[in-house]
Amino acid sequence: MPKRIDHVAIIVRNIEQALVFYRDTLGIQPGEIKEVPSEQVRIAFLPMGGPGGSEIELIEPTSPDTSVAKALEKRGEGLHHICLEVENIDEALQEMRDKGAPVLDEQPRIAAEGRAIFLHPRGTNGVLLELIEKPE
Ligand code: ZN
Repeated sequence: MPKRIDHVAIIVRNIEQALVFYRDTLGIQPGEIKEVPSEQVRIAFLPMGGPGGSEIELIEPTSPDTSVAKALEKRGEGLHHICLEVENIDEALQEMRDKGAPVLDEQPRIAAEGRAIFLHPRGTNGVLLELIEKPE
């Protein structure tokens, strides 16, 4: 069973421009902007609530060929996925499969913040859902 909302991810055209709202207007101090070459994106996490709090993740595609870039092209900026933290990602993956949920990953993938799987929006009432196990 998921423990908490870990992060909510938003696709943006340009992280620095997005920070004009999220950092300067809203007042959340971002972590450093990271390149993730394996996913062809740049990301920035905006943490809230201290340890155990939740984060907003800003995602900027760096190549036109990825699913993130295509989503931006098709729908514009906006919500990309919601991520829930689980205790054990291998058990969660098995449980989702057993219950017939549309898991998009054969194996947990190595995400920015831990090991994660994604569930297709068709099984989650229209939201791409990530489940993540974070390292201790
Ligand atoms: Zn995520």
